[in-house]
Amino acid sequence: MCYAIPGQIVKIKDRLAVVDYFGECRNVLRDFSDVKIGDFVYAQGGIIINKIPEGEAKEILEFWQDKFFELKKIDRRVSKIHQSKVSDNLLAILQKVNLNQKLADDDLLKLLNASAEQELKLVFETANNIRQKEHDNACCVHGIIEFSNYCQNNCWYCGIRKSQKIDRYRMSLDEIIKAAKSAVNKLGFKALVLQSGEDNWYTEDKLVRLVKEIKKLNVLIFLSIGERPKKTYKKLYEAGARANLLRFEISNKKIFQKLRPGADFDKRLELIEYTKKLGYILATGFLVGLPNETSDDIINNIKLTKSLKADMYSFGPLIPAAGTPLKNQKKVDKNLLLKIIAITRSLDRQAKILVTTALETLDKNAKRAGLLAGANSLMLNITPSNFRKKYIIYPGRPDMDKEINQSVKETINLLYSIGRAPTDVGI
Ligand code: SAM
Ligand code: SF4
Repeated sequence: MCYAIPGQIVKIKDRLAVVDYFGECRNVLRDFSDVKIGDFVYAQGGIIINKIPEGEAKEILEFWQDKFFELKKIDRRVSKIHQSKVSDNLLAILQKVNLNQKLADDDLLKLLNASAEQELKLVFETANNIRQKEHDNACCVHGIIEFSNYCQNNCWYCGIRKSQKIDRYRMSLDEIIKAAKSAVNKLGFKALVLQSGEDNWYTEDKLVRLVKEIKKLNVLIFLSIGERPKKTYKKLYEAGARANLLRFEISNKKIFQKLRPGADFDKRLELIEYTKKLGYILATGFLVGLPNETSDDIINNIKLTKSLKADMYSFGPLIPAAGTPLKNQKKVDKNLLLKIIAITRSLDRQAKILVTTALETLDKNAKRAGLLAGANSLMLNITPSNFRKKYIIYPGRPDMDKEINQSVKETINLLYSIGRAPTDVGI
């Protein structure tokens, strides 16, 4: 099984290359690979990750040819906007969205407050329609390996915070590499997220070794390891990591400081900006549903993510975790998250927007609903099941007992049902 389509390079200009997928072109960085016009390549997250022999590429493309156009047709059908009975005011705002006109904060708040069924339907359809126009049916699927649940921090919301009494684990470098190999070679993943608590047992040297080994698999490596010294992020970039998933969590400094004892909001932002400057693909975002958060905070979260020039938006609902100071926090409404996806798409048409597993925890159909509200990226948990069960940042996570193969199959079926194809979204 291979969840990626190779493309052919049709143009090269400086660090950029144009990759053609059955006539549809995407800009990508030719960062690692020495490529020329005519080469067949795999790209992920807007970066060429490897070159593949022409014979092999043509065989895969032949398999995809009919399916690719069939999927596009489905996507075009599914992303149509239907007439809905909504107020003139909401209609005027959505008209601005359609025409790509500037949205005032008041417009964004009105979108966030939409609540009637017909209103929600139109808001989601409009965002999905923009996603289709801007990105066509491309959708990336990343695998995530949660390699340690040790953490030196005590974030109030998190089920693996230092003071939680839980069964801790650390995967050895060999175990992580084995899991990565299986994800790439058996399941066809082209992008892997390496996530953990802030665990200094994995020294800079160990992480560099890990990244260098996984890099040999020709895969896009995302880090999600929390706050490390800038020099560590630099070394890891040099070792071959190319993406960083680090949320700022909430743009409201006061709430941030309270919920992350000992952490410094400005320092976290500075680190996020530093990794972006280093050249990392930046995935960042926020939690929704933190105590004392207002609608203005949510709008500011989206705007801050945009101003950080995030390549990928990653936001999800807080799921109250037993034993944490936020264990009694109110459950977040699934539609609020879907509206945030739709607003993000309206504000940042080029964005890659992730449907997070936390959203799937709120609602088992969230993957589909999120993709139909403007999202175009997914992450699948590929942590070996004995460890996966212990990475309990929040309860009720989906697919805890499911074989990875099965989750991949179900996701692909879902993507096919709504016409999404595994071409790279590009930059
Ligand atoms: N330690 C790293 C860090 O904090 O950036 C990476 C791992 S951390 C578990 C990944 C993300 O999990 C955090 O950015 C946070 O937004 C999210 N998270 C933590 N506790 C959560 C909860 N109870 N519900 C939903 N998301 C949560
Ligand atoms: Fe640690 Fe990250 Fe959880 Fe905070 S959110 S306690 S840094 S794992």
